[in-house]
Amino acid sequence: MGNDQKDRYDAIVVGAGPGGCTAATLMARSGLRVVLLEKERFPRDKICGDAISGKSVGVLKELGLLEKTEQAESIVSWGATFSSPRGDEVSIPFTNVLDRPTPPGFVCARTEFDEILFDAAVDSGVEVRQDTRVTGLLRNGQTVIGVSMSTPDNREESIDAPVTIGADGAYSVVSRELGINQLDERHYVAGIRAYYRNVSGFHERNYIEIHFVDEVLPGYFWIFPMANGGANVGLGMLSSLIKKKNIRLKELLEHMTKRSRFAHRFEHAEKLAPTKGWGLPLGSRPRPMAGDGWMLVGDAASLIDPFTGEGIGNAMVSGMKAAEWVSRAVSERDFSKSFLSGYQDDVLGQLKSELRLGQNMQRLLNWKWLLNQVIAKASRSPDMSRAISYMFEDMSEREKLVSPLFYLRLLFA
Ligand SMILES: Cc1cc2nc3c(=O)[nH]c(=O)nc-3n(C[C@H](O)[C@H](O)[C@H](O)COP(=O)(O)OP(=O)(O)OC[C@H]3O[C@@H](n4cnc5c(N)ncnc54)[C@H](O)[C@@H]3O)c2cc1C
Repeated sequence: MGNDQKDRYDAIVVGAGPGGCTAATLMARSGLRVVLLEKERFPRDKICGDAISGKSVGVLKELGLLEKTEQAESIVSWGATFSSPRGDEVSIPFTNVLDRPTPPGFVCARTEFDEILFDAAVDSGVEVRQDTRVTGLLRNGQTVIGVSMSTPDNREESIDAPVTIGADGAYSVVSRELGINQLDERHYVAGIRAYYRNVSGFHERNYIEIHFVDEVLPGYFWIFPMANGGANVGLGMLSSLIKKKNIRLKELLEHMTKRSRFAHRFEHAEKLAPTKGWGLPLGSRPRPMAGDGWMLVGDAASLIDPFTGEGIGNAMVSGMKAAEWVSRAVSERDFSKSFLSGYQDDVLGQLKSELRLGQNMQRLLNWKWLLNQVIAKASRSPDMSRAISYMFEDMSEREKLVSPLFYLRLLFA
């Protein structure tokens, strides 16, 4: 590190996914000097279902990026179709307000979506370094004071800043270097994704599809419609179960598209690229998120919804909060663990009950008979499907999903 580097940055952000770009953009917009380090070069892929939920839409709005996302190669999705192991199906709108001005959700390939966020960081004055892989942390005692990295021409360099934000995803180098446990198989899902063209049978309003099938429970098989006749198809399962049952995910996905009750929908479909897999660290066990001179956001902090597998929204929300706390830390000149732990309290204050609900919902998936009954009933009852629709929009309504009373009323209605 040369002396000219000293005091050059207020914050280092490692990883330019949704969490890192949100944090970096907001910090730069509030006048902080930020460097964003990314090991890939944009546009880059991220293995994902590509479903951008209402929570992400809220942050996109705050960032002023909603219009850009609408104009990108994305589609608006207005609801979700669920199917039970027995084969019943129910289609539920995300909102009871049809054609409201703000779309309830999108499906947008991450090559496109992440580039919108990355461009916003660049436009906001963040100094970005692509093809730059962070390899370790610099420390002064317990305090993180910067990072070491390998540059595009393979040189080892280091930079310092009073705070480093690890937004480097499921296999976070920052959290590994901090000695934070990486993989707890009971709180970790392995997911695989494939892109197709010409899958048939989608809902006319681009509903995403979540299928609870015997072979994948307590995970699910998804088929999400995409722009230009494309589809994102995949499945995710708890790692502990994959290991216990010795499941080969790619073979299972082949089975779903070629030999299951969904096979007819893939009759004229063309697979566009090889199937790829990636990890999902679940928010049923979030990692420590802050310490002396460091913070973690998004997947690096293990914040994925344990039931739905959604992590983009929580990455963006935690990125937003990280930016707020770094701004405060800069004005207070306090980057200590005791100050920055306010960030962790803030994130968990917003997400904890939601993540707990997700974990309880994930457990309910072990009760196959209940799942069969609930989906069968909901498919016959417009009142029930309307009630579930309210749950997409309202967290307090969603809490009812883990109340025994809700199921008793449903089953005996
Ligand atoms: C199969 C699958 C399906 C999913 N489907 C959905 C879905 O439909 N909807 C949803 O909301 N969520 C979904 N998720 C979860 C979602 O993909 C993640 O939660 C989200 O990408 C987290 O964002 P992030 O910014 O924390 O990390 P990431 O998006 O992983 O970004 C991390 C960034 O850090 C960079 N990086 C990593 N290491 C280094 C390093 N050492 N140095 C520099 N840069 C580094 C990476 O290149 C990357 O750009 C899915 C996940 C999987 C695996």
